[in-house]
Amino acid sequence: HGTITTDDLLGWLRALADAVHEQAGHLTELDAAIGDADHGSNLDRGFKAAVAAVGEMTDTPPGKVLGKVGMTLVGSIGGASGPLYGTFFLRCGTSLGETPEVDAAGWGAALRAGVEGVLARGKAERGDKTMYDAWAPALEAYDADLAGGGDLSSALAAAAAAAAQGRDATVELVARKGRASYLGERSAGHADPGATSTALLLQCAADTLG
Ligand code: ADP
Ligand code: MG
Ligand code: MG
Repeated sequence: HGTITTDDLLGWLRALADAVHEQAGHLTELDAAIGDADHGSNLDRGFKAAVAAVGEMTDTPPGKVLGKVGMTLVGSIGGASGPLYGTFFLRCGTSLGETPEVDAAGWGAALRAGVEGVLARGKAERGDKTMYDAWAPALEAYDADLAGGGDLSSALAAAAAAAAQGRDATVELVARKGRASYLGERSAGHADPGATSTALLLQCAADTLG
């Protein structure tokens, strides 16, 4: 590719909804260990609704499509992850504005704007055992890949790999945000559900947008 069009984004969102559906049981199992056993079903419901909401938006700029995804997630997921993922997509969309095609630098800026929205809402820091522990290394890897001469495809792959490492690194962490923090030390020993879904989102992006 080299750039991202609305068609590309719609392909990503469909693949993501399918992957979330496939992984819903796993995500819910992770949440059963340190939360309330609903992360998979929450996201399955949300991304199904989001894909349905944007299905006809083929002539709409990418940023507007992502804005619609964000609104739909906020309205359909609930819990902690609804507002967090909703804000991610809303801010991502705002960052893209009306541009019809997004280049690698523009996508990196949009991801960063989305994650800043996650931080503004959830106030997580690195090491709190949240989705931010997958997002933060992913943003760094994306930018480092581009700075080193990479392109959209290699930067997306680098981000996905870093997010997976970040997800794995949450296993040993003690949760300091969200429901898992109620468990204190007992939250250690399990991967964070949100970091796991973020890694999945970025792997799908690498597979479909790269
Ligand atoms: P809930 O905890 O309301 O049931 P979910 O189970 O859908 O919501 O999502 C839980 C995930 O949300 C956690 O695994 C974590 O990654 C993420 N999360 C919770 N609180 C925060 C926060 N303050 N900042 C960032 N991420 C958070
Ligand atoms: Mg939950
Ligand atoms: Mg819940």
